[in-house]
Formats: sequence, structure tokens, C-alpha cells
Amino acid sequence: MNKITILGSGTSTGVPILGCNCAICQSNDPRNKRLRTSVLLETEQAHTILVDASPDLRAQLLQTQTAKLDAVIITHDHADHTHGIDDLRPYSFKNSSPLPVFADAHACESLTIKFPYIFQREKVYSSKPILGGGIPLLDLHPISPGQSTVANETFFFAGLPHGHGESLCFIHKKLGYMIDCREIPESVLINFRDAKLEILIIDCLRYLPHQTHLHLELALEYIQFISPKMAVLTHMGHEMDYLDLTRQLHQRQMGHVFPAIDGQSFLYS
Ligand SMILES: [Zn+2]
Ligand SMILES: [Zn+2]
Repeated sequence: MNKITILGSGTSTGVPILGCNCAICQSNDPRNKRLRTSVLLETEQAHTILVDASPDLRAQLLQTQTAKLDAVIITHDHADHTHGIDDLRPYSFKNSSPLPVFADAHACESLTIKFPYIFQREKVYSSKPILGGGIPLLDLHPISPGQSTVANETFFFAGLPHGHGESLCFIHKKLGYMIDCREIPESVLINFRDAKLEILIIDCLRYLPHQTHLHLELALEYIQFISPKMAVLTHMGHEMDYLDLTRQLHQRQMGHVFPAIDGQSFLYS
């Protein structure tokens, strides 16, 4: 079996939000504590693939006691999915070759500009030595929509509209992963439905519509179309109380849909 672990299920601010006094940010329920959205895949071929380098990355990978990474997928270039990239240093130093980072062409370009000391190291250090603790050794691999190989595993990738750009969603075996999107194009919905998924992890920011993310009604509509055995809502904001949301899903006969909990793992074939 393959395993996915939810490293974080929170929106870009995380929950609680710094300085917020709302009931959910002040809640004692650990299921309302959400680090920034990312996941870890551990495949039956023993490959370990990180999806997104959130600003909480160090704490997240200490929790999972992850000793090695074979590849990283970056879904898009926003800060909540990339700003933990420097914490990949220990993994990149362990490998004999640079740690491969997979992203679409736009995100590759953007990462090169945002992190020149990592991705333009030859230029930045052309006239001066690298001093001190070292720089993450990462290699960018642009991926296009369709099938790609990541760490010897076959993935299907597609782009979803998000803000001014796109966010990558993917299918790995019986797992579907779609975060950070305003809507899902019909062709992608059909790809996901035809994959007969065991688990679908899907964006669900809040109850009310949002300019760049799915809200509950839209996420549930897509879940019904894709009809996975189980769906897990993620990238949640401080409007979403775990227990309240779970009750609502039960009342609506959506017992196979769950809000994500940080640290939780699921197996898929
Ligand atoms: Zn995000
Ligand atoms: Zn709050």
C-alpha cells in the first residue's frame, strides 16, 4: 500500500491566525490547529515524496520523523507552499546528487527568481566562495500537464486556475490531490472521476465563496462528481470548526467526507 500523511491542513495564515481572538483560533481542540497545507507520500516502492515546502516544513517533518526524501513536488509558487524550501538542506546534503524538485514551467521560473542563492548559485557565487552552513542542493524539473515520472512513480498532472496563475493537481495511483483552486475545469473532473479514486484530498477554504479558493458547497459538488471512496477537505481557514463541520457533513449524508487533521495518514492502493 501507499501512504499519504497530512503535514498541514491550514490556509496561508495557518490556524490559529496570529493575533486572532475568534472562537476557532482560541479553541482547545487540537483538530482546529492547522499548519500550512502540504503532504508526504510514502509509496509501496519505498519512495518518499514531499508535496510543497510550507513555512512550517521543519516542524512538519520532525513530526513524521522523515529521514530521507526522494523528490519534492511544488504545486505552485505562493509563499505558503514554497517558503520552507531552505529546510530541505539536510535532505539535499544526504543525497549523492541534488534533490529533484518538480513544478510547472511558471513555478520553476518563479522559484529561480525568488531563491537565486539556490537556483542561480553559479551566477550568485561566480566571484565569491560559499561560506558557512551551505545551500540546499536542489534541481528544478519542469513538468507539463499529463503523465510524468517523479522518483520512479507515475503521476498524472493538470493545472487548476488559482489567482493569476495555476496550481498543479495530480493523481498518483488511487489518490487524487487538488488544492488551491478557484474552480476545476470539466476535463480535469473527468480525469479524476475516471481514475476511480480511493482518496481525494481537496481544497475547502471556508463556507462562503472566495476569489481564489473552493468553498464548501463547490468542493462538495466536485466530490459528488468525482465520487471517490473517501474525500478529505484541506487548506481550511479559521471559519472551519472541526466538530461543527463534521456534524454538518453527517447531516447532509456526506459521511465519506472528512475535514483533514494535521498528522493524519491514509493508505491507498
Ligand atoms: Zn495555499
Ligand atoms: Zn481566528
